[in-house]
Amino acid sequence: MAETMTQTAVLILLGPPGAGKGTQARMLEEKFGLVQLSTGDLLRAAVAAGTEAGQQAKAVMDAGGLVSDDIVLAILKDRMAEPDTRNGVILDGFPRTAKQAAALDALLEEQGLQLGAAISLDVDDAAMVERVSGRYTCANCGEGYHDSFKKPAVAGVCDKCGSTEFKRRADDNAETVGSRLAAYHEQTAPLITYYEGKGALKRVDAMGEIDRIAADLAAIVKTVTA
Ligand SMILES: [Zn+2]
Repeated sequence: MAETMTQTAVLILLGPPGAGKGTQARMLEEKFGLVQLSTGDLLRAAVAAGTEAGQQAKAVMDAGGLVSDDIVLAILKDRMAEPDTRNGVILDGFPRTAKQAAALDALLEEQGLQLGAAISLDVDDAAMVERVSGRYTCANCGEGYHDSFKKPAVAGVCDKCGSTEFKRRADDNAETVGSRLAAYHEQTAPLITYYEGKGALKRVDAMGEIDRIAADLAAIVKTVTA
């Protein structure tokens, strides 16, 4: 059962691919009755519902353009007026720039709301490259293995089914993972600076056990809604 909130929590969750952002957001949804709002889902829902802002977004996307910050904010404002968001929201994918962050602050102020926290799921890049790039699976039964952390008992033979065929995802290599992380840091740096400057940035070490990370996040949510 979700805990009772005394104040609407507006949270921003930042984290690179592989940091477990989706898993953690779902746990926060369950524990605190929050709603995760990702930009892509927001846009699709608004277009499908045919709201004014949704129609504007559709026109831009149909013309192959990028939906402006103003339209995204209008869609976010509409969505946050719906009753299921009364406990709070977890924003995922917006804001992406310091300019968008400032526009979000203005929207929240207009709504009588305040940003609870921008939470950065921090990863150790080198460890992340090792974790992701070492993954492979049995081609027959799908059992997951890892070069460093979970080798088959007999080299080259699946523990579960005895198959000797394994496969790796093409994008699970060190180079791709490294460049994904670099792109993430480059994109996110201005946001980190922005929220640090406002004293709203919280950092969570996202390299350990899922339950410990969830507990750290829950502690932050509690402090911003108490
Ligand atoms: Zn197998």
